[in-house]
Amino acid sequence: MFCPRLCSLLISTIALSACAETPNTSTPAAPTGASISQPALAEQPTAAAISFESWRDAFRVKALNAGVQATRFDQAFAGIQPDAAVIDADRSQPEFTRPVWEYLDGALSAIRVRKGQALLISNKATLDAIEQRYGVDRQALVAVWGMESSFGQFIGDKSVIRSLATLAYEGRRPQFAEDQLIAALLIIQHGDIQPQRMLGSWAGAMGQTQFIPTTYNSHAVDFDGDGRRDIWNSSADALASTAHYLQASGWQRGQPWGYEVALPSGFDYAQADPEIRKPLHEWTELGVKVPPVAVRSDDRASLLLPAGHRGPAFLVFGNFRAILKYNNSSSYALAVGLLSQRFDGKGQILGAWPRDDKPLSRSERIEMQDHLLRLGYAPGASDSIIGANTRKAIRAFQQHQGWPADGYPTHELLARLRTS
Ligand code: CA
Repeated sequence: MFCPRLCSLLISTIALSACAETPNTSTPAAPTGASISQPALAEQPTAAAISFESWRDAFRVKALNAGVQATRFDQAFAGIQPDAAVIDADRSQPEFTRPVWEYLDGALSAIRVRKGQALLISNKATLDAIEQRYGVDRQALVAVWGMESSFGQFIGDKSVIRSLATLAYEGRRPQFAEDQLIAALLIIQHGDIQPQRMLGSWAGAMGQTQFIPTTYNSHAVDFDGDGRRDIWNSSADALASTAHYLQASGWQRGQPWGYEVALPSGFDYAQADPEIRKPLHEWTELGVKVPPVAVRSDDRASLLLPAGHRGPAFLVFGNFRAILKYNNSSSYALAVGLLSQRFDGKGQILGAWPRDDKPLSRSERIEMQDHLLRLGYAPGASDSIIGANTRKAIRAFQQHQGWPADGYPTHELLARLRTS
């Protein structure tokens, strides 16, 4: 989202979005920005101790204190009961994850590229005006639009009030859901949308941008001038709201999100970490080969290895980090960046993916974390999530083995851990 949407599952780098689209493209991760991301999956849900009605009555007091009018609250909650499908989605912890190359195959499909190209032409006047006002490149806006809702085709069909009420009542992050629910009630009160037309994903991500309600309140704009911020039915409002969010996230017009690079033999793969940022010349001094046609940038870059040292390598800049604020998944940001280039016939990946190297399953990732802990490498909680601590632990073990220290979990790594 725009996740300002919420997505569902996360996986090392990939996740499926809960949002609109079907086999979607987004990944969640940390709750940042627009989107919503699912954080750790470790919290176990507990059965609600009070009835839904008791929870609603207590929440009503909080909502009124936050400025929601009583009549608005009661109208929005009329007939609302918890949605079991929302709870199922919230508690789902899928065993298997799509590899990043399969995720990209879906995200960058020929159909999506063609549709985006056509929309760049048919929306030219609107995009001219948005680019002028917000300084965000149109290809990136249309790419986000395609990723979030297939250009407005899949915006979710669940009542946002019902979904968020369900999550606030018995979800894994009740406080977060309550905050979103109050924001949603204030949107209705503002007159932007009728409660019954406020539709979104199970996680409360709304409209063509899949904004969560708090992101909507901070960044949605009325660009077509009809007096309402309508990210559901107005593509001009949706695209401008996306631009406003990316602008606030530090987007630099005309700068690259990143590009594929070649690494020299003997490269120290421990340099490939999102926390390590260097000016371009420092990367080239380390032997990183930049494509001759690449736009030069003074921005600091990180080295991204989406599938470990056996797969393609990318240098990623500030605009990549701006996309991550939309949806904190490197696979998502990579897909947006590449899709924005595919509209112009560019963005092809030259390096080969290690397609024989399937991602570890959830239980295998947990087993790997348990072994790393047993061996003294401090991977953090055994929660299946490959975060900074787990990556660091993997690198340390890889270095001890004399292997490339890319921090990437593989079956070979798990097999070695089992016998260590
Ligand atoms: Ca409008």
